[in-house]
Amino acid sequence: MNTPVRCPVCGVLNNVDPGRSGARCGACRAPLPAGGVPVTVTDASYQSLVLASPVPVLLDLWAPWCGPCRTVAPILEQLARKYNGKITVAKLNVDENPETAQRLEARSIPLMVYFENGVPSRRLVGAMGLSEIERSLGLSI
Ligand SMILES: [Zn+2]
Repeated sequence: MNTPVRCPVCGVLNNVDPGRSGARCGACRAPLPAGGVPVTVTDASYQSLVLASPVPVLLDLWAPWCGPCRTVAPILEQLARKYNGKITVAKLNVDENPETAQRLEARSIPLMVYFENGVPSRRLVGAMGLSEIERSLGLSI
């Protein structure tokens, strides 16, 4: 089943297969945030995917060598599915993207930064469970 995903660059709605990554906007060819799965963000796409996102973004800063980051990964996948279309769940590898990691002062990971209208509003440090993250971000429904 396809999910409507709004292009972070031009605002056009695209129908995207949630299981497929690497989809691009039909209008402007910008990479689309996939529906229902965490999006990979890099230094190059941070501006368009996070700062210019029309919906809130939960950005997870992680690294492959970080044990607690691996604990958080499946929880982020759950959040991405649960809040598909309402929140973009995104991941940034701090080793490959030092510029953004430094900008967000990621001294300790996992670090989750919640962006509303392109502004970081909450920072969650360390591994957390699903309900703890929801509570911290005021998402509880
Ligand atoms: Zn577009």
